[in-house]
Formats: sequence, C-alpha cells, structure tokens
Amino acid sequence: MRYKIIDNRVDATQWFEFLYDRVPGIYIDPIYHLDVGFFRDPDNPGYQVCEKCGKTNHEHGWISRIEAKVCPGDYIVTGVFGTIVLNEDAFRGAFKGE
Ligand SMILES: [Zn+2]
Repeated sequence: MRYKIIDNRVDATQWFEFLYDRVPGIYIDPIYHLDVGFFRDPDNPGYQVCEKCGKTNHEHGWISRIEAKVCPGDYIVTGVFGTIVLNEDAFRGAFKGE
C-alpha cells in the first residue's frame, strides 16, 4: 500500500562545517540548534576518507539523537517524520523551496 505525507512542509538546513572561534582551540557550531556534534568513532579514524563524499571523517558531523553521520553539504531535514539527513542530490530530488 502506498502513502503520502499529509504535511509535506519541512525545515531544512544545509550543513557544511564547524567554524572556529577566534580563541584558538575553541570550536563554535554555528547551527547548534541542529544538535550536530563532532563525528568521533574509534573504528573510523579522523584521517580516514568517507565512502560517501570523499572527505576525511574529521570534517563530518554527528547527530547523536538519531545516530546519523553528516557529510559536509548534507541537508538536515525535519518534518512530521522526525529528522533525517539527506545528501544534496536526494534533498533536491525530494524537496523544493516554497
Ligand atoms: Zn562523508
């Protein structure tokens, strides 16, 4: 059986990177409300290259609430279904601006 979403409006933000504050060593997440933390995984070292985007793991974010790795350029999409992470192609194929 097929279904369609009743309310298909979503909030979406494209995430790129963590920014450095002017104080050395202090990180500031400019979109903190999205709960994107640093991606840290002992089984996937920071220097290792991501199979999805080709960037190193230390350039990635992590949303612990949904256990999702965020590649630079991914969209964080929140709607009636909760929060999901989509790459740019998937996001643009599924959503358009109002
Ligand atoms: Zn990636």
